[in-house]
Amino acid sequence: MDIFSSRRNACTQDERQRIIVAGGAGFLGSHLCDALIKDGHFVVCLDNFLTGRLSNVAHLLDHPMFTLITHDIVARLPDIGQVDQIYNLACAASPPKYQADPLHTFKTNVIGALNLLELADRKGATILQSSTSEVYGDPEINPQPEWYRGCVNTVGPRACYDEGKRAVETLFYEFHKQRGLRTRIARIFNTYGPGMSPSDGRVVSNFVVQALAGEDVTVFGDGSQTRSFCYVSDMLRGLKALMAAPDTVVDPVNLGNPVEFTILELAETVIKTLKSPSRIRFSDLPADDPKLRKPNIERAKRVIGWEPQVTLAQGLALTIPYFAAEPNRYSKALWAAE
Ligand code: UDP
Repeated sequence: MDIFSSRRNACTQDERQRIIVAGGAGFLGSHLCDALIKDGHFVVCLDNFLTGRLSNVAHLLDHPMFTLITHDIVARLPDIGQVDQIYNLACAASPPKYQADPLHTFKTNVIGALNLLELADRKGATILQSSTSEVYGDPEINPQPEWYRGCVNTVGPRACYDEGKRAVETLFYEFHKQRGLRTRIARIFNTYGPGMSPSDGRVVSNFVVQALAGEDVTVFGDGSQTRSFCYVSDMLRGLKALMAAPDTVVDPVNLGNPVEFTILELAETVIKTLKSPSRIRFSDLPADDPKLRKPNIERAKRVIGWEPQVTLAQGLALTIPYFAAEPNRYSKALWAAE
């Protein structure tokens, strides 16, 4: 990840922006910090390090265009100076992580976003919110277009995240309508790639780490539930394109890879790709686990000319070496090394 040698495509002095990435030490956020600096922008990374990792941004700490502020966006924001754009990626996104402190998750989504919206309003900045496919809950239609209003349990274990994100979308809508703020909303579907924490708890990282270690691969339920997996580089392109979209693009835009897999298929693919001796172990499906998840991306194609390019096979091939290289990762010796 050599950001310093890749300034060829950098923007001009006039195009240079000062950009806040809230959640900038997280999986997606840290990739975004890298990409924006590579593009020639100043980046201010805000992170409370609840799930963000210093190791994700350690290589940027001495970079003159990068500032790290350890801060929880639920609290009053520090004075940040000029701000042209804000990406709000601040919130734990893995079910075990966001369910560990549901009240804080809800506050992060609602109060945190409110703080950033007020800041955007004061500074005249454009602000992009990372929303989620979770706003569709356990959907009754497949694939899910943006007009689908979802099927969400307001009092279940996922509600702090799902309803928090739904409330953020409303906040964005009202700030745009009442105050004329330039807002963007990305509904992000399951995204994976290098930089994920091996203990993140989401399905791709769990399966790859388990299969690398030759441990049982833990499929929840019978594995017939589906997800559609987007590789991180595709997601970054989508987020940047949405930020750069005309100011009329205020309605939510699905960003995700529309190729759908069952979780059992994913488990089998990971085991096969790694030629791992791991076996599949089935256990209970968590409460309110969505049965189907596949984005309709017609709006993204139309308004930002975006669609994913990386297949699951290609994305796994790029992701596996990252997990394999992470030190002290496994409780057991790597089967591949035996
Ligand atoms: N899942 C699984 N085994 C795991 C982790 C997750 O079978 O070790 C399932 C989970 O129940 C869900 C799907 O994989 O059906 C995706 O889970 P993840 O936590 O990655 O994201 P979600 O889309 O549910 O927020």
